[in-house]
Amino acid sequence: MKIVFLNVPGHGHVNPTLALVSELTRRGHHIIYYNNTEFALPIEQSGAEFRPYPDPQPTAAALAEKANSLPQVSVWVLEQSQRLLPWLLEELRHEQPDLILFDSICLWGMQAAQLLGIPSVASITTFVAEGVKGMFTLRDGLALAGQALTALPGIIGQRRQLVRSYGPEIFPRPQIFPAISDTNLVYTSREFQPETNFIDETFHFVGPSLDTAVRQPTDFPWHLLDDGRPLIYLSLGTIYHNRANFYRMAFRTFADHRGQFILSAGRMTDLAALGPIPDNFIVRNFVPQLELLPRMNAFITHGGMNSINEGLYFGVPLVVVPQQMEQALNARQAARLGAAVVLGDRPPYGRTSPTALRQALDDVLTDDRYRQNAEQIGKSFREAGGYEAAADVVTAVHALHSTAEVAKPVKSEQ
Ligand code: UDP
Repeated sequence: MKIVFLNVPGHGHVNPTLALVSELTRRGHHIIYYNNTEFALPIEQSGAEFRPYPDPQPTAAALAEKANSLPQVSVWVLEQSQRLLPWLLEELRHEQPDLILFDSICLWGMQAAQLLGIPSVASITTFVAEGVKGMFTLRDGLALAGQALTALPGIIGQRRQLVRSYGPEIFPRPQIFPAISDTNLVYTSREFQPETNFIDETFHFVGPSLDTAVRQPTDFPWHLLDDGRPLIYLSLGTIYHNRANFYRMAFRTFADHRGQFILSAGRMTDLAALGPIPDNFIVRNFVPQLELLPRMNAFITHGGMNSINEGLYFGVPLVVVPQQMEQALNARQAARLGAAVVLGDRPPYGRTSPTALRQALDDVLTDDRYRQNAEQIGKSFREAGGYEAAADVVTAVHALHSTAEVAKPVKSEQ
């Protein structure tokens, strides 16, 4: 089958799809994968044919800039739809794919599939947050309302323009994201997903889609890891990582700690400017996270969905310092199930103290229940099937539509 995959430039959105694409390619399917050129290498390595979005391409930097404000992300998504749809519709008419896979913030993917009547599957790399109750605080709500106020005119205007150009069917559902389809892949387990009435039988919880073979090879000084000490991995992900003050606080807090720390400081961080690095820290701009995690005793994370999934997959207890609201939800769910301690989950998020940080780490290291609960969630992840289950879902959608296509003339003859 020929598949077109539409994604946004963000590691968190791309990483889980690489193992799926690799699996689909192994099964003989051809995938044309659109994204920003900076993701060309891992996408090609996964077996897909990479194609860049037309210039000016949506960039990781532009998306990262908005990521603090979900309403601003909505405006960005609508602008991209407006700009990309004429090109995309033309491209799809030319390529005639059997199926479209689109990330749940690629509104344009959902809309093009809808307008052309092409079967599609949504790829959801976060929790399904729509309709989740009891996990957000009044403060979260107020912070969100403040952001929405400034973004609202943009959202309404862009939406109106899209309806004017393509008709009301361009928004088959009220929400902008998650953009969903009749079949939706979620890369976590049903057990870990917070309750919401929004979920129905169209959502398939396949668990984290992990395969080290499809990750970019990354150098790491493995010989420096000291397995005789507790090993602690610290990362704020690929978007919110330029946090020199937080890293310096971690240096001060843990310089005399018995553990060994591995800090992924992010590609944008100037390591030399961080100042003196304690002896018990290994600091790099980027590390092979998936390969490191199985050896870790604890993970201090920003709570990006992939990091949470990856940590728990390997049964690693978490200290989560969320940097924005979506990560606060991830953090609270991990804490609710006893696998994490959450710090700084009040807007404007991410603020904590040396004392709280040290206490939280020592709690997850010494109280074995955190590890047991992390392992329990990890078990639910492995049972969900991962990228193989995801590929089964995608091929089943294709099979269903092929059968329907074959069945059509028979029906009309009767
Ligand atoms: N990652 C990695 N090495 C690093 C930092 C991050 O491989 O040094 C990967 C990590 O394994 C995860 C992704 O980048 O798959 C980060 O995604 P997440 O959803 O956790 O956070 P985001 O970067 O989107 O905020």
